[in-house]
Amino acid sequence: MNLDSSVANLSLVGPIYQKKLEKLEIKTIKDILYHVPHRYLDFRLVSPINKIQPGETVTIKGKLVSIKNIYTKWGKKIQLGEVEDKTGKINVVWFNQPFLIKNLFEGMEISLAGKVNWFGRKKALISPEYEKGGNTLHTGRLIPIYPETSGLSSKWLRGRINEAYEEFGSEIKEYLPAKILEENDFPSLAKAIRLVHYPASLEEAEKGRKRLAFEELLFFQLINKKRKKDWQEKNSSYPLKIEKKVLDEFISSLPFILTKSQVKAVFEILSDLSSKIPMNRLLEGDVGSGKTVVAAISAFISFVNGFQTVLMAPTQILAQQHYETLSSLFKDQKVRISLITSGFKKKDLGRTDIFIGTHALIHQKVDFDKVALVVIDEQHRFGVEQREHLVKIVKKRITPHILTMTATPIPRTVALTLYGDLDLSTLKELPLGRQKIITWVIPPFKQAKAYPWISQQIQKEGIQAFIVCPLIEESEVETMKTVASVKKKYKELKSLFKKEKLGLLHGRLSAKEKERVLDAFRKGNIDILVTTPVVEVGIDIPNATIMVIEGAERFGLAQLHQLRGRVGRGEKKSYSLLFTESKSLKVLARLKALSKNLSGFDLAELDLKLRGPGEIIGVKQHGYVDLKIASWNDTDLIHLSQKVAGEIKVFPRELEKNCC
Ligand code: ADP
Ligand code: MG
Repeated sequence: MNLDSSVANLSLVGPIYQKKLEKLEIKTIKDILYHVPHRYLDFRLVSPINKIQPGETVTIKGKLVSIKNIYTKWGKKIQLGEVEDKTGKINVVWFNQPFLIKNLFEGMEISLAGKVNWFGRKKALISPEYEKGGNTLHTGRLIPIYPETSGLSSKWLRGRINEAYEEFGSEIKEYLPAKILEENDFPSLAKAIRLVHYPASLEEAEKGRKRLAFEELLFFQLINKKRKKDWQEKNSSYPLKIEKKVLDEFISSLPFILTKSQVKAVFEILSDLSSKIPMNRLLEGDVGSGKTVVAAISAFISFVNGFQTVLMAPTQILAQQHYETLSSLFKDQKVRISLITSGFKKKDLGRTDIFIGTHALIHQKVDFDKVALVVIDEQHRFGVEQREHLVKIVKKRITPHILTMTATPIPRTVALTLYGDLDLSTLKELPLGRQKIITWVIPPFKQAKAYPWISQQIQKEGIQAFIVCPLIEESEVETMKTVASVKKKYKELKSLFKKEKLGLLHGRLSAKEKERVLDAFRKGNIDILVTTPVVEVGIDIPNATIMVIEGAERFGLAQLHQLRGRVGRGEKKSYSLLFTESKSLKVLARLKALSKNLSGFDLAELDLKLRGPGEIIGVKQHGYVDLKIASWNDTDLIHLSQKVAGEIKVFPRELEKNCC
């Protein structure tokens, strides 16, 4: 048996517990040793019984002199005990744990740790942790609290981890080069594991965690580095010719002048396209920064070289919009564009230069002939498998260049780790002439007044508005509850807005119906679009200048920013009204941040700070593994891991075995 053996070798781990451990991604002895606590309870204060005070958190050691279940008048069961040491006696109380009695018996030596409070007129330890004898695994020290899952408590995990550590701790071997450890003052692996599970102080625990977090980030970087190298070495693409004159002519035919960032991104992409090494690039740009036209220019180059381009978007609405945008940008060219969504009939498909579609592109068995470029818009909406599947289908003879695009404003440090296998282009500024979107946080008592104001704006300025209702349940897709609530809202609003035409949009409508509604909105036949957050992704309707977001507190800042980005797309003054019922100062301050003119990237950083790790929109769905020990807040550590990964030219064999 060794560190790689199954956790089933530990005592008390049968098939049921093995399954539960798997939920925490724990399969081997090593995995359980790497299960790092997310906090600690401070039970270090060991006190004689006569000294303890209400309000204190203490550990006491003594003899259990009595223990019994008692029943209250209301049928509740209380476990009441008495513990005694040389200095005195104290009551101990648990609630509703009648089974406890089975483990405890009068006369046993016991350690207990918890909070002291009044129980009736006497001091008592309330719901303490306990253990037999003078052992101090669960009491008398900093007690680790682990990420748990239902039926697996920290206490139980502590026992198993302790057993694993006692039996196998001596087998933990270092595999990071000594130089890295020395330069960064990291403890050895064995010591780090000990420090996180048995720290003498919080500083020690942090020291251990930091080393393990670094290791996790470093592996992340190294895996990406390897993935990138493999992709580049094992594949080759069509190197495209870039004729400056043809390119310049096309760019000057566009209805606007490209921003500096757009020019830079185009330059970076074209330089990739002209190489045999397949491009794998992420174009990151705030909402409205103009990613579509960058993709269009790339597709144009593929076209003039005689190749096809495939552009995949996450929703039908967006695919349709891209189809219209590209058709108009290419109106002077002989480019043949086909739209492929779920209703598509293969027999209707003529010769095509640019395929635009939803994931139907994967399932409809389209005959791709010579695809040099694949563009994936809003890439965070797709799983890794979907992206890979699409590439696999089009990759008949040769690997296409890949451009993925996202408006998920992930801070650069995070992006470089998360997408370290991709090259990164960033659109930093918005096109000129964009106005700041005026953003108000609207408390309940002002909400009734907002509606007549919107009506007035519509009548006077001829503009249009979105009213977004929140998702009622936490879920990536719309649940029936959400749909029901948006329908209800739609009815209410209909009676409020007498002069305006209202439309209703939600994810449960058929594709045809969605298209019809959106088309009517685009053409101005609908004044107010009442919708679920399905409009979040990519919709571009410049005459819509008011965005009402109800239940704004339910969204992250980055997501609110994306939603708000549906307005402010033309020259007209635009407004965003954030309705909230919340009275929490913290929430209101978070929402107020939106009224400052911050970029999506700044807001993402702020969200990271305010809401904490793991909450960045998109990170959860990015499809790569989530971080277990490190957090996306560990900016310094992320930088360090990038630096170290960059310096490692040859992987030490042990390191490679452990990470890749
Ligand atoms: P996103 O990056 O969010 O996908 P889009 O590509 O939809 O943004 O572009 C948003 C809007 O900005 C579109 O109406 C587009 O025509 C316009 N646009 C793009 N680039 C420019 C530019 N350089 N100058 C002016 N308008 C632009
Ligand atoms: Mg877009």
